Amino acid sequence: MSGPLTGQPVLTIDLPAIVANWRDLAARGAPGAVAGVVKADGYGLGAVEVARALRAAGCRHFFVACLTEGLALRAALGPAPMIAVLEGFAPQEDGDAALVPVLNALADVAVHAAAGRAAGVARRAILHLDTGMARLGLDGPEQVRLADDHALLAGLDLLYVMTHLACADEPDHPLNADQAARFAAACAALPSMRRSFANSSGMFLGPGFASDLARPGCALYGINPMPGAPNPMRQVMRLAAPVLQVREIPAGASVGYGASWVAPRPSRIATVAVGYADGYLRSLSGRAVGECRGRPVPLVARVSMDLTTFDVTDRPDIAVGDRITVLGGAGCTPDQAAALAGTIGYELLTGLGARYHRDYIRG
Ligand SMILES: *Cc1c(COP(=O)(O)O)cnc(C)c1O
Repeated sequence: MSGPLTGQPVLTIDLPAIVANWRDLAARGAPGAVAGVVKADGYGLGAVEVARALRAAGCRHFFVACLTEGLALRAALGPAPMIAVLEGFAPQEDGDAALVPVLNALADVAVHAAAGRAAGVARRAILHLDTGMARLGLDGPEQVRLADDHALLAGLDLLYVMTHLACADEPDHPLNADQAARFAAACAALPSMRRSFANSSGMFLGPGFASDLARPGCALYGINPMPGAPNPMRQVMRLAAPVLQVREIPAGASVGYGASWVAPRPSRIATVAVGYADGYLRSLSGRAVGECRGRPVPLVARVSMDLTTFDVTDRPDIAVGDRITVLGGAGCTPDQAAALAGTIGYELLTGLGARYHRDYIRG
């Protein structure tokens, strides 16, 4: 692979670290299986690269959000692993990609079951029961109708029944235990089948949240599944933006749009090639830190579309051509930057832009 262009930010993705995170989660989920959730292009880090690395490590189940993601992943992975599509799709819409639809309503059950009966071949699917999210999944009355009439499932080969936790990142939230109880009761009223329950945070809630197939996403990518406690996962990404210019400005001079930062002393300002068009959020203006050679560098003034400024007055070692790590370094993990920006690490990662040189560490 060729290197970055001069002035191009570099997004480094550590595939062995993602694999190591998956292995830790796989051990935690055992004896159940542990999937890899690679929706939204692998949380912005590259679904195909991530899924190939996880498959090589033994991961056999993948979840994507939508059909287009599923088709692309099947083309990259070949026939073997299960690729489930959380938003479902119409029968045959996956062509010969053999994707597994998640059935999110009784109407989805009916249409896929009818297609299976018509073809004389039971259709593989995952049944999604809503237990407290009120987003997708069979609602309570639909669950009762299915419990009263198991014949509605004829024509389906249900690989799993799943539900999704709303508050797994808040261990003390009463909805967690409520959802576990509702899921257990709903499953007991259906034909026996394997269950899929916890997302990343749910895997840390205790034995009541274990299942036959856990579905971690964020923890694979280094986001803390236990906010408030030390992060048990490895960091897996680093976004480093090159310094395009360093300039000296006098005390009292302002920097950037809105003149929102005024130099309190004669200052050296480094302008780097990353901005909100690259997913480096404008709400980080004046708040974040970058990292260069292991030490923090304060961001000053507004983040603009393509450029961001750092105060390097105390860093004579920083010059044009150096790279300042803006995400994934000390003090600027996706979780830390997201907290400063008023959002969550998930949104930062999935919002990463397309202008980077992507450098995959393959171990
Ligand atoms: C996104 C998603 C997951 C993964 O969630 P994380 O919090 O990233 O681990 C699991 N299950 C469903 C249904 C999802 O939508």
